Amino acid sequence: MYDENNIFAKILRKEIPCDKVYEDEYSLFFNDINPQAKIHVLGIPKFPCANFSDFLKNADNHHISFFFKNVQLIISMLDLEEKGYRLISNTGEDGGQEVPHFHIHILAGEKIGNLR
Ligand code: AMP
Repeated sequence: MYDENNIFAKILRKEIPCDKVYEDEYSLFFNDINPQAKIHVLGIPKFPCANFSDFLKNADNHHISFFFKNVQLIISMLDLEEKGYRLISNTGEDGGQEVPHFHIHILAGEKIGNLR
């Protein structure tokens, strides 16, 4: 069940601002308000989906492939391929997800620490 009042839905509706990195008809990328690395960008599809599985199960293939191509576009735009980066998508309670709209974290700009 998708919560239309989650903070990323509000950002998509332009009800609250974001520090935009890139936007097109399928996706929005913006800087995380509480960065965990020198570069910390969030990417969200313009599709009402609570998490990764919800997006992959319910969006059409065109939307899905466009979104992930755009993740790569941002990686290229920010010139991250040579030094590397980490992609994370927290899902649900065990995954530590706070905002229930599917998003990808792009972390880079320094060595990203290990989990546990
Ligand atoms: P997650 O725990 O994967 O759901 O991550 C949610 C992320 O959204 C966290 O890294 C927050 O810092 C970030 N966040 C929450 N509100 C905002 C906002 N208004 N603008 C940008 N990032 C946000």
